Amino acid sequence: MEKFDVIIGGTGPAGLGAAFRLIRHNPKMRILMIDREKVSTGGLRNDCKMNFTFPIGFPLENWTRTQAENYLELVIKELEPEILQKRNISTYFKRAENLGVALLDIKQTHLGTDGGLELIKKLIAKLGDLGVDIRLEHCLTAVNPDSGQIVTDRGTFGYEHLIIAPGRQGFRFLQTIMDSLNVSYIDHIVDIGVRIETKQENYPIVSDYYDPKFIFPDKVRTFCTNSGAAHVVMEKYHSSAGKPYYSVNGHAFSGEKKPNGLVNFAMLKTVEFTQPLASGQEFAENLGLQAMLMGGGKPIMQRVGDFRLGKRSKAEGFNDDLYNFRPTQPNCTPGDISLCMPAKILRGIWKSMKALDTIIPGVLHPGTIMYYPEIKLYANKPSFIDDNFQAYKNIYLIGDGAGTSRGITAAWASGIRAADGFIK
Ligand SMILES: Cc1cc2nc3c(=O)[nH]c(=O)nc-3n(C[C@H](O)[C@H](O)[C@H](O)COP(=O)(O)OP(=O)(O)OC[C@H]3O[C@@H](n4cnc5c(N)ncnc54)[C@H](O)[C@@H]3O)c2cc1C
Repeated sequence: MEKFDVIIGGTGPAGLGAAFRLIRHNPKMRILMIDREKVSTGGLRNDCKMNFTFPIGFPLENWTRTQAENYLELVIKELEPEILQKRNISTYFKRAENLGVALLDIKQTHLGTDGGLELIKKLIAKLGDLGVDIRLEHCLTAVNPDSGQIVTDRGTFGYEHLIIAPGRQGFRFLQTIMDSLNVSYIDHIVDIGVRIETKQENYPIVSDYYDPKFIFPDKVRTFCTNSGAAHVVMEKYHSSAGKPYYSVNGHAFSGEKKPNGLVNFAMLKTVEFTQPLASGQEFAENLGLQAMLMGGGKPIMQRVGDFRLGKRSKAEGFNDDLYNFRPTQPNCTPGDISLCMPAKILRGIWKSMKALDTIIPGVLHPGTIMYYPEIKLYANKPSFIDDNFQAYKNIYLIGDGAGTSRGITAAWASGIRAADGFIK
């Protein structure tokens, strides 16, 4: 059996952050990185916009501003991002402030889905050159802490330290690992919302600020704005009973692709359960399945004009007249989102959209499309035994799957912080 000083499960930004930190600290360290896919599957692969300002992506229960800013400096040093310039946005800041809405001033870069893939290849090649053993299409299935071994679909490997970073899609896998290690965890937060798609002329701020972060009262925020060659996509998930459901999402290609004149972004409301403590995952699944019921197995899309009139959208409304652009995700079902979205969430989001339309007049054009549901799970947050995300002796759980991050840069920072746990 092959043995390593460190095994890292997952080649997303969390795993990469750990690998770079460790190999740069000690070039002789024997490090194995595995991923079940041919190429990492998270945000580096999809749109790849990176935010380098606290608190974007940093869960406040895990990070102080000072900690996050210190680690962000290291992330910047490794990734050397070209920060996008913002222009002409003081009016938006003033209008937002007058309405009690915050517009955050974030350092950002955007590579696009194609640019992200190139970056992943570059980073993996660089790690290989530095001496990290990278094995793709190796799926981690179990951990045996007593013998210091992991089990994969390609064999068993020994470790001194193990870092597991399986991302959001590894939610259930991580749950199985934590159950097997008797690590307790909590899953009580979820973000639910809609993805808005409109013409760029209705949301012109994006020419000056690529991904503007508005924070509204009632825990509603804008999230993941895409423009240029921007598209809405459907991501497939399965409920615990194995039933399929979709969440919408968005991405854009880099500046080299032909722009389509459209913008998309999410309006999300954070829902946090207290008593009786519900599982965010189960709540989200139920909403996802409810939307599938209404949409005949697909997400729902509704024009703002129809929503305002209290009527469902129909296929014939997606035409070239008033509703003057075609949806980039035509596989969704024209319908009525108010039939399947909880009232409190819908009220919070609609109120925030009206505020946004006051800050950027035009975004609520009748032709604007709302796609539902967009679901962001917040992971099963483990109880850690130290400040470096160690959840069990010599086993570190990091990244979006373990709730230590909610974005690429914070995931990378989590990897460095876990590595620092045993470099110390
Ligand atoms: C569609 C989409 C778009 C996004 N866009 C952005 C964005 O533009 N900007 C941003 O900041 N954030 C974005 N995010 C969020 C971002 O992806 C995450 O914050 C970040 O990727 C988390 O990093 P991670 O390393 O924890 O997980 P991931 O990046 O998800 O990586 C986890 C890796 O682990 C692998 N894995 C999972 N299970 C196993 C297993 N059992 N064995 C071996 N390998 C396994 C997966 O294949 C994957 O490659 C996006 C997320 C999605 C889903």
